[in-house]
Amino acid sequence: MNEVYISLGSNMGDKEETLRHAVQLLQQQKEIEVVKLSSIYETDPVGYTNQDLFLNMVVQVRTTLPAQEMLEECQKIEQALKRVRIIRWGPRTIDLDILFYNHDNIETETLIVPHPRMHERAFVLVPLLEIDPNLIYPPTGLALRTMLELVGKEGVRRWKTVTGVSEFVLSENSKG
Ligand code: ATP
Ligand code: MG
Ligand code: MG
Repeated sequence: MNEVYISLGSNMGDKEETLRHAVQLLQQQKEIEVVKLSSIYETDPVGYTNQDLFLNMVVQVRTTLPAQEMLEECQKIEQALKRVRIIRWGPRTIDLDILFYNHDNIETETLIVPHPRMHERAFVLVPLLEIDPNLIYPPTGLALRTMLELVGKEGVRRWKTVTGVSEFVLSENSKG
């Protein structure tokens, strides 16, 4: 069984519902079990800043899928949720990035793991460390919490606490 951390982000449409739907689609995959969820964070956009706020979270999953197939599952979910994106790092309905796949170092044309920009992004580090405060970033050997101290938590605000996987995927917005 492989342990994988995935970062999710949304900044278009009904962002919370999109995150929920993405986690549902992960959980529905018979080869994937969603184990832990972070809270949902509201975050200021980074890179291309002239866009709406994001909602971000991190999930920990267990899977029998090899890393490349896990990436393909993430991309299928992005497509299913009609990801639209014109500007690099610009607005998108949903983004799923693989942060860690076990402790593996992967570098292919389509997949780099650990995610090469995660350690400089508070919107990834804050929710990731909520799930496991003791994680190490293998490329530097540094504790991720030390890397977060360097980056700072500015622009990342806890928006909603998520109590558990089933509560989260089963709850619906009451607007029908
Ligand atoms: P960033 O990677 O800086 O967060 P992004 O998520 O907006 O940017 P995408 O358009 O989602 O970038 O992905 C571009 C490509 O990145 C994908 O086609 C995918 O093949 C590749 N990629 C490489 N490593 C990863 C990874 N660890 N997780 C997800 N995609 C990855
Ligand atoms: Mg991304
Ligand atoms: Mg991506």
